[in-house]
Order: sequence, then C-alpha cells, then structure tokens
Amino acid sequence: MNKMKCTVCKREAFVKLPAHNAKFCPDHFDQFFLRQVSRLIKKFRMLRPGARVLVAVSGGKDSLTVVDVLHRLGYQVTGFHVNVGIKENNFSEESEAVTISFFEKLGLPLKIINLEKEYGRNITTFARRFPRLCAVCGLTKRHLMNDYALAGRFSCVATGHHLDDLASSLLANVLRWDLSYLAKNLPVLPAEGPFAKKIKPLALLSEEEVRIYSELRGIKPVTAVCPYSKEAKFKRYKFFLNELEKQSPGMKRAFYENYLKVAGIFEKAGTSELPLRNCKICGGPTPSEICTFCRLWNRTQSAQEEDQEINLGDGN
Ligand code: SF4
Ligand code: ZN
Ligand code: ZN
Repeated sequence: MNKMKCTVCKREAFVKLPAHNAKFCPDHFDQFFLRQVSRLIKKFRMLRPGARVLVAVSGGKDSLTVVDVLHRLGYQVTGFHVNVGIKENNFSEESEAVTISFFEKLGLPLKIINLEKEYGRNITTFARRFPRLCAVCGLTKRHLMNDYALAGRFSCVATGHHLDDLASSLLANVLRWDLSYLAKNLPVLPAEGPFAKKIKPLALLSEEEVRIYSELRGIKPVTAVCPYSKEAKFKRYKFFLNELEKQSPGMKRAFYENYLKVAGIFEKAGTSELPLRNCKICGGPTPSEICTFCRLWNRTQSAQEEDQEINLGDGN
C-alpha cells in the first residue's frame, strides 16, 4: 500500500483531513492548526496582538489546547479554573491537579476558585433539587469567570468550544428554532454592558483535529469523568453530523460557516426583552432584583423550597 504523503512537503503524512482535502506530516499539521486559529482570531477581531486573555480551563483537552495555542501565538494567557467539589471518580481533585501542573509547565498564571472553601458547599449539594446539574454548574462558573475577567480588566474570556460543539448546538437550536440561542452561537460575543467579551478560538477546528493537536503537543488532559456529565447532550446531533461528514467531507464546517453569514438576522430576535439591572447582592447583571448566582449561593436554608423556581437561563 502506498504511504500517504504530506500535501506540503511530500514527506510521509500521518493524518488525512478530507474536509480540507489535505494530508499532513506532524510539522505541517501543527502549522495548519496554528494558522486556522490565527486566521479566525483576525477575521473576527477576537484579540489584539499580545492581548491579555482569561481562559476557562476545565483540565480537558479542549481547554488545555486553547491555552497552548494562544500562548504560542503570543497572547498573555491567564487560566481560570473552578474546583466544583465533585468527589466521585476523584473528578475535581484530578481536574485541578492536571490544570495546575499544565500551567506550571508553561509558567503561566492560574486563578483557582474552590467552591467549598469560598461558599461552604460544593456543586453536588444542588444535585437532588436540580436534575440539570450541569446548568447550575455552568452558570456558576460563567458568573465567577465574568466577575474575575471584569475585575482584572482582561480583554476577553476564551473557551475551548470547537466546531463539533458549535455545529451540533446549531443543529439542535435550528431543530427547535430557538432564536435566542441562534443569535448567540457565534465565535465572538462582544462585551455588552456588564458582560465580558467572549471568544471561541477553536470554532473552526473539528474535535478530531483538536484531539490530534493535543496528542502531538503531548498535552495530558484529565482522564476522570464527571459522573454528572450530560454525555448525551448534543451527542446524537454530533453523531448525525459526523455521519453526514463521512458522505460529504467539509459539510460540518460549511453548515457552521454558512450560518455565520446569516447569523445577523437572528440578532434582534435574540435580544432579551427584560432590561438588565444590578443585582442587590453582587452588583452583577440580572433581570430581577437578585441574580440567579446569588440566589443559588447566598441563600438561607429556609428558602430552599424556592429552588425549583430559579430560572437557570439568565446570563449570556
Ligand atoms: Fe459541572 Fe456538568 Fe461539567 Fe460535571 S459535566 S463539571 S456537573 S458542567
Ligand atoms: Zn509536511
Ligand atoms: Zn448577584
């Protein structure tokens, strides 16, 4: 059988990317990956050269990859990790340890917030009352990170969402015609009042490409799995898109890129009708007197029965 040859240098290729009609040796795959990120950053004006960026780091391959790439591209990266206190599978301890050792190796600053130490309880104490624990966990992490980014005057907050995440949530939201989500499924959300700017530098790279890059770079992500992980979330949409991708390479990327061309039409429909004001406790943005975060974390035991009424949908 003929060996695959790198499209650029004709040396032996180790990976074939049908979506790009290309095969690469390790060096040229690395260059391809950096170039894709760098182009997206420029195209969407995500970051100025050398900007200070706060990266949400879970300890998984996607977030560690964003840190690695942005650091290599010359941005000033600070990590932000929340230890949510999940004891099962030693999940939170391992995630924190992996994150610390990764940042130590790169010599980059890292901020860690431990929910038990700061708020006296961990995320699992919400599990019984909120079957969608990931919604509480995500809201908590986003709130803390937004606060920290604004206080530290970071240019923006970066996350490790890749093409498979964005294309599958796009498909799910199109099938529901959820206009407010369709307005926000973008690689960049500008700073808006009390919300920091948000960027997704891996938005046009597939999960497989991120996996190959992280392995090539020797990145060792956390192996423990969160027992509350909603693995099923968007999983069937990812599966479906991957099946289509096999028949028509490049389809996934085209689906998402074509959405980007028309996303503006959803903008108005996605605007919150409720005006935001400042939360009485933390000063953060909220359509009600007290924001969801404060209602969750600064509450008295006697108010627990109100939990079911808490709307987990605010924030952007
Ligand atoms: Fe939190 Fe859900 Fe992630 Fe577990 S899987 S850490 S509960 S967001
Ligand atoms: Zn090559
Ligand atoms: Zn608040």
